[in-house]
Amino acid sequence: MTVTDLTSESRSSWTSRITNGPAGYGGIVADEQWAAAVRRLADLRNATILAHNYQLPAIQDVADHVGDSLALSRIAAEAPEDTIVFCGVHFMAETAKILSPQKTVLIPDQRAGCSLADSITAEDLRAWKAEYPDAVVVSYVNTTAAVKALTDVCCTSANAVEVVASIPADREVLFCPDQFLGAHVRRVTGRTNLHVWAGECHVHAGINGDELAAQAKAHPDAELFVHPECGCATSALYLAGEGAVPDDRVKILSTGGMLEAARQTSARQVLVATEIGMLHQLRRAAPGVDFQAVNDRASCGYMKMITPAALLRCLTDGADEVHVDPDVAAAARRSVQRMIEIGQPGGGE
Ligand code: SF4
Repeated sequence: MTVTDLTSESRSSWTSRITNGPAGYGGIVADEQWAAAVRRLADLRNATILAHNYQLPAIQDVADHVGDSLALSRIAAEAPEDTIVFCGVHFMAETAKILSPQKTVLIPDQRAGCSLADSITAEDLRAWKAEYPDAVVVSYVNTTAAVKALTDVCCTSANAVEVVASIPADREVLFCPDQFLGAHVRRVTGRTNLHVWAGECHVHAGINGDELAAQAKAHPDAELFVHPECGCATSALYLAGEGAVPDDRVKILSTGGMLEAARQTSARQVLVATEIGMLHQLRRAAPGVDFQAVNDRASCGYMKMITPAALLRCLTDGADEVHVDPDVAAAARRSVQRMIEIGQPGGGE
């Protein structure tokens, strides 16, 4: 059976049920039949399915690999399949395309954006650079390909401190787009010539210090895993500094770092400050630990646009394909590769 055969079979049995609205594609229940169809279509397309940690549990469970943005892009580059289906938001699929220009990269719904990546455009960055012509530009991987192409070195939340520390102390640094990660880097490096762009992710910014303090008080024996993009990263360190939470109970971690820490923790309960999709992988990694969200409303609507219906449509129609201009991709690739040369990149968000 060819993809075309299966496509027509699927069109009659599946795609007639798919609906399309502003919140994404719907109308399909993620049951065993759906999972089998997804796997069959992926095989026929010679595609590998990658899912970000913040995806819906059903999408994570049907994927070939689950992880954070950069780790998945590196898996995409090494995968033997010539088609990559990236279940995540658009800048992540772009990064996979940047690192694998010869492959077909598909995203199940190209409307899945990111408020953090959207908080700085290439035009914004060009104007900022003109104000500080000698500065080194460090961009978090949550940026568009066009912004990465204007960047000297990319960074992830796991290596942002290391990347900034590798820049000569007398060079000014422009750090974008996340203000909370930037504040974390400035605090750790003690660097006063680090200029931070005032961008933020609406989901992470919504996890605030008051909630964290209340949760820490209500669960005095729990450890705290905090993503540095969270508005509460500063509060978590402050709480530790004030003795409200013992220092060793607060861990500022990338999503990849959270999974490693989950496997090693001796705590019975862990409070998690990041997007709630992360809880699914943490619970799988350490089933004996009680993982609870600091804010259980911290759900990224963009990530959740990758629905069971969207994935099925993507595999059936070969859409939406991600394109990056080859010159932009080459310049963006250089900034990602410089980061990889500096040190262990971890996985980003
Ligand atoms: S959680 Fe925030 S940073 Fe992550 S994809 Fe959603 S909007 Fe972007």
